[in-house]
Amino acid sequence: MIAYLPTIYPDELVYSWFCRYYVHSGCFSHKMALQELYCKRSDNPSKEFIGNLNPEAREQIDKMYPLDKLVLDHTMYPQYARFIPLERKKTALYHLGHDPCDIHHLFPVLPRGEGERYLRFCPLCVREDRDIYGEAYWHRRHQIRNMRICTKHKCMLMESSVPAKSEQSFTFCPAENYTYNSDVVYENDSLMIRFVEYLDSIFDAPMDFDNDISISSILYDGMSRTKYLKPSGRSRYTKMLADDMNEFYRGMGICSIASMYQIQRALLEGGADFSVICQIAFFLGMKPEELTAPSLTVEQINREKDSHYMKDAAPVDWELLDMETAPVLEKFAKDVYDGTASESGRPERVSEKLVYREMNLLGHQLENMPRCKAIFERYTESYPESWARKIIWAYKKLKESGEVFYWSDIRKISGVKKKNFQLTIPYLTKYTDADMVGQIMALVIE
Ligand SMILES: [Zn+2]
Repeated sequence: MIAYLPTIYPDELVYSWFCRYYVHSGCFSHKMALQELYCKRSDNPSKEFIGNLNPEAREQIDKMYPLDKLVLDHTMYPQYARFIPLERKKTALYHLGHDPCDIHHLFPVLPRGEGERYLRFCPLCVREDRDIYGEAYWHRRHQIRNMRICTKHKCMLMESSVPAKSEQSFTFCPAENYTYNSDVVYENDSLMIRFVEYLDSIFDAPMDFDNDISISSILYDGMSRTKYLKPSGRSRYTKMLADDMNEFYRGMGICSIASMYQIQRALLEGGADFSVICQIAFFLGMKPEELTAPSLTVEQINREKDSHYMKDAAPVDWELLDMETAPVLEKFAKDVYDGTASESGRPERVSEKLVYREMNLLGHQLENMPRCKAIFERYTESYPESWARKIIWAYKKLKESGEVFYWSDIRKISGVKKKNFQLTIPYLTKYTDADMVGQIMALVIE
């Protein structure tokens, strides 16, 4: 039962709201606050979304703030779901509010680059919030990918020490305790200011739940007014676009610049990453409304569809694609392998299917990409080996929680069945010491 929930502030992350709940409710420990809000002890508070609330908390919160509205106005949903197809947009909205699942099943979540790993804050907003509300809080718009500046104060955002992704340990980090006084550095570059205002206005625009116009059609329309599309409309000069964009954004000092591969995906296959698409559209000179409330005619949409049937003017440059994809794959594979990629932190097996899907490759194309193939092979493991890693991860996580637990708890969060346990034994010793192996075996026998 939640004792008292404070009022949520404008543009405040739900996570921030829960942090303040923790501070004001008089909960003695993180664990206690977590128990009042979440379902299982293995649930972690989600920084960008709501997380797996228990039914009572869900009902209580829904009465105060309808969950759909909470997702729309107080989570990073408008960033991640902005450009995915209509049906998936609706599904994601439902799941985030009512039936939490792994967010990677809902929309693409790119690995975080430099400058995107920690929650950010604006020193002037902190001061203002303290004046108005008596405390600081985490703002959503400061957490938008590639957002470097507070659009309200035109000053650089500061990085806190609070990781932006969900962590395995149970912690609430209220902005009041994790922001600090710092010198205000104003941004003078008008182009940079225009770019962040662009991101901001797209993030802020109402979500379109009526039209289902694919982002590739919208970008194709934007390109048709530039030199990056042949007047016939039959070929895109993607390489030239990528090179020019790279120079443009490097000059501006943007951290995560869209790669040739990501651009290609957005243009041809409906890759829907917010940061990539905003970079393309801003560079092409498209208005924010063209992205957020597109008004293309059926004819315009069909023109883009037709262009897919034409053979691409240039054959795939495998060498280049391999080189560009390798660092992306390396990060992806590592994150899947060690659990960074998953909301719960559970390590997973890096399967061939997963790699092909993530890299958007067709059958056997990895054979043309020696660098990527080598990376994939480095992460390849058998099922029993991955089970062993999952069991150890689950064991450590439960141990950390400090409560009594049983094999059934390990099974639940590791997803490894008892009948498969025998197969994992040879690998357990590879990843942990004999002492822990003994403790795990004792739990199974119990
Ligand atoms: Zn500010």
